[in-house]
Amino acid sequence: MDADHNAMTNPADRNTALAARDLKHIWHPCTQMHDHAMTSKGGVPMLPIVRGEGAWLIDAEGRRYLDGISSWWTNLFGHANPRIAAALAEQARTLEHVIFAGFTHPPAIELAEELVRITPPGLDKVFFADNGSAAIEVALKMSFHYWLNQGHGEKTRFIALTGSYHGETLGALSVSDVALYRKTYAPLLLTPILAPSPDAYEGKPGEPPAQVAARRVAELRALLECHAHETCAVIVEPLVQCAGGMRMYHPDYLAGLRKLCDEFAVHFIADEIAVGFGRTGTMFACEQARVSPDFMCLSKGLTGGTLPLSAVLTTQHVYEAFYAEYSAGKAFLHSHSYTGNPLACSAALATLAIFRDEPVLERNRALAAHLSRRLEPLRDHPHVAEVRQTGMIAAVELVADKATRCPFPAEDRRGLRVYLHGLRHEALLRPLGNVIYFMPPYVVNEAEIDHLVAAATSGIEQAVV
Ligand SMILES: *Cc1c(COP(=O)(O)O)cnc(C)c1O
Repeated sequence: MDADHNAMTNPADRNTALAARDLKHIWHPCTQMHDHAMTSKGGVPMLPIVRGEGAWLIDAEGRRYLDGISSWWTNLFGHANPRIAAALAEQARTLEHVIFAGFTHPPAIELAEELVRITPPGLDKVFFADNGSAAIEVALKMSFHYWLNQGHGEKTRFIALTGSYHGETLGALSVSDVALYRKTYAPLLLTPILAPSPDAYEGKPGEPPAQVAARRVAELRALLECHAHETCAVIVEPLVQCAGGMRMYHPDYLAGLRKLCDEFAVHFIADEIAVGFGRTGTMFACEQARVSPDFMCLSKGLTGGTLPLSAVLTTQHVYEAFYAEYSAGKAFLHSHSYTGNPLACSAALATLAIFRDEPVLERNRALAAHLSRRLEPLRDHPHVAEVRQTGMIAAVELVADKATRCPFPAEDRRGLRVYLHGLRHEALLRPLGNVIYFMPPYVVNEAEIDHLVAAATSGIEQAVV
């Protein structure tokens, strides 16, 4: 920001001035830009954030917002975390970037070693990319190419779950099933085979989550009996389908999926981009089913929410299917200019060092229990169908009718009302449709959790009338 420009602006108008400059040139993600037109009927403010501090974001006029969604699920240890910032500054003075073909560097080497050490057994090879969607593209291509190299070029399809979200580049969007993102672009996409999600909310009335999981495993078996011969992999978000509405399921599904993938010779791709790094209570969600996937995609929390970076971990066995004389033409072909960026790797190393040095998962268990207690009263609310939680992710499902679970029409945009209410009450809540969720940075304290829940609860009261 231009300091002179800021000094000349009346402090009370700094947000407005920056928002106007932003809207003149910037096109924002996941946004109908018209929403930001401020009219007499209202509008959604474009908020310029100039500083971050722990779980808080601070705007140009000094107003604070508690980041209840970890800035799109990326932040783990607070904004402007001093330890990560110091590692970054040191790396920036040493080596900012180098081509990653034919060259390597200590931060990437150390990060690969550490990722192999902490992920489930058998994941011994690391391929870097620079965002979550790119990691999905890598996993899809690598799985297909593995089968091709093994003489199975007829395997060209993927099985994905209903309600899944794996990103928005064309390949990743192809295996996603959230209509909001997919519908418009469907003519451009691959056609996945959709398996019914083990989502416990979609179970039969009174059906326990483990039973929903068992039923969905049986349905997946039936699909594989028809399609395994043409299928490269089954891709899932372990335990929580996040963008699909924080829908949660029983770990038994992952154990059943692992067995079926072995039996039918298809890969298991675990997209832990949102749920990895402690979100669900364990370092990785797959641990709760004691399974190792064939591919694990990581991003978001990987750098503690500091820089874009992703990694796809896979097995020595997969790696060997590509390892041959150059003339065999079996090499994996996928490259991004910023692959393995040293700055991003050093931010990731500093993040993983915090996990090593501090009892993060233990602290999170106490915070998650506190969040759960605070959300308890909402269960009785006449417009809340369910309050659900897996570790540091909690969600409140708003409905028009509690008995039938009939949803509010999407066009009501009731979640948006909660969002706007949150901003007026120093809280960043960003509901997914009618699902109000909490995914705070791990540095929140109990008082801050109380603040978030209070803002959400009064927001819900406003939104359901
Ligand atoms: C966010 C997300 C992605 C995509 O990551 P981007 O970095 O936003 O491209 C993929 N899968 C899951 C489960 C995600 O939550």
